[in-house]
Amino acid sequence: MWQAPPKKPLRQRIREAGGFYHWFNATLIRLAGPPHVGVRAKPLCMNCGRQKNDHLLIGGEVHCPDGARA
Ligand SMILES: [Zn+2]
Repeated sequence: MWQAPPKKPLRQRIREAGGFYHWFNATLIRLAGPPHVGVRAKPLCMNCGRQKNDHLLIGGEVHCPDGARA
């Protein structure tokens, strides 16, 4: 009859997972799912297709980086 292995202490589990950082990552991923889930790509500009971050804010208006050069 199959039996679940006894629970290991957290400290040991962390060490076996390769250190706290990896354990933390693994736990986060298990809780929150793979990184690409829930993280949305920033909306792209409908004019030039670049990320909004690449744009310049001039006088309260968003200017495309290419258009701002002219
Ligand atoms: Zn743009």
